[in-house]
Amino acid sequence: MNYFNFNNSYTYIDDRLFTQITPDSVPSPKLVVFYSNLAKELGIADRDFTEFLSGNRIPEGSTPIAQAYAGHQFGQLNVLGDGRAVLLGEHVTKDKLRFDIALKGSGRTPYSRNGDGKATLYSMLREYLISFAMEKLGIPTTKSLAVVETGETVYREQPNRGAVLTRVASSHIRVGTFQYVAMQGDRLLLKKFADYTIDRHYPELNNHLNKYLEFFTRVMDTQINLIINWMRVGFIHGVMNTDNVSISGETIDYGPCAFMNNYNPDTVFSSIDRYGRYSFMNQRSIGKWNIARFAETLIVLINPDTDKALELLNGVINTYDSIFTKRWYKMMGNKLGLSQITEQNYQIIDNLLKELESKELDYTQFFRTLAENRAENIDENIKESWLKLNPDFELIKKTNPAVIPRNHIVEEVLKEAAYKGNYDPFNDFLKVLEEPYKDRTDSYTLPPDVIDKSYRTFCGT
Ligand code: AMP
Ligand code: MG
Repeated sequence: MNYFNFNNSYTYIDDRLFTQITPDSVPSPKLVVFYSNLAKELGIADRDFTEFLSGNRIPEGSTPIAQAYAGHQFGQLNVLGDGRAVLLGEHVTKDKLRFDIALKGSGRTPYSRNGDGKATLYSMLREYLISFAMEKLGIPTTKSLAVVETGETVYREQPNRGAVLTRVASSHIRVGTFQYVAMQGDRLLLKKFADYTIDRHYPELNNHLNKYLEFFTRVMDTQINLIINWMRVGFIHGVMNTDNVSISGETIDYGPCAFMNNYNPDTVFSSIDRYGRYSFMNQRSIGKWNIARFAETLIVLINPDTDKALELLNGVINTYDSIFTKRWYKMMGNKLGLSQITEQNYQIIDNLLKELESKELDYTQFFRTLAENRAENIDENIKESWLKLNPDFELIKKTNPAVIPRNHIVEEVLKEAAYKGNYDPFNDFLKVLEEPYKDRTDSYTLPPDVIDKSYRTFCGT
């Protein structure tokens, strides 16, 4: 019986886009988490296939590759590529939906530079947990099918248990992949690649007069939606380099991400983000910056006259701020239980956020308890003007989760699982995160005792 129904269209585009590679074998693979419901959705075998998810055996139909890409990392353009991931293939479901199945932490590739190509159990469990939470929060994301402990030791600052994660994505095409393709200076390759991507993610654009400009507009639109959605739940991606911006609009790369507790627009958790480039509120402007880098890759497809192409692309980019502002206030309005929001009411939201910031109130808890009409701790005038707008308390509950993966709980359950082999707290937490909008009042909903200003996250662990 086949485990996957592979059809590896990416491998037919052009040899410059990837390198064929075999994942490393590992000494003693042990499946530690498996997302059965995702396996069911994908229509793949429910039998034990740890050997395939560890890299020890290559499933039938797979042509394993490492993809090449580039990316602006903290503003600096570098040639990158899958340095510790292998794309096993594209699994096509009964409904003809196509998903990349990739192993992460599966060994060195030609794109590994100085890295070991491996991943720690701790960070792969972290990705599994947070990507699961994001899905259940209703946010587009790559998903984690499984984590296999490898039995290898992976050295970071200390020895760590090693692991391989199976990542499921509607594709791994990034802004950085377009940057890589554009760098080749081959217009035909770029056209072929753009056509491939449009067919795969935005096939409805094929009939448009200037489909590449329309494609650009759509990618910008999905990115705005994604970032607004992150900000709705207090998510800070942490490493919005262009190689971590997916063309499909899914959240990708769960390295240094974390959730904000008390509201502060300048919140940063990533240890390497010293200047706050990717802070909570900067996600808006960096999203625009990243989209502008994407635009640069498309110039030659938009119009043979570069000035004309730039004019068209800039025309779209110049709408980013107004679209973002409108959707930001709509989202914030929804958080307040208001299905419609007019510009006259923007001030209420601005004032409220200032209050949350100055009083260091918990973002998640504050908005969620509005559903019980408990706008405690805030200025009476703001509260009154809000209540006059007749908030819908059900909308509040639909927009504001009761639980998010709070940093202190994430750390607690990961330490038990990754360091002590006790998966009970991890699995209990997954159950809680499965229904984040459900009413609850237990300790999972509570902010940490002490504000987590010193909490730090790391990238390539
Ligand atoms: P990231 O910070 O995860 O977006 O990764 C940036 C680049 O570093 C990508 O090309 C990754 O494949 C590569 N990379 C990250 N960790 C490792 C590792 N342990 N070994 C080799 N390459 C890595
Ligand atoms: Mg990455």
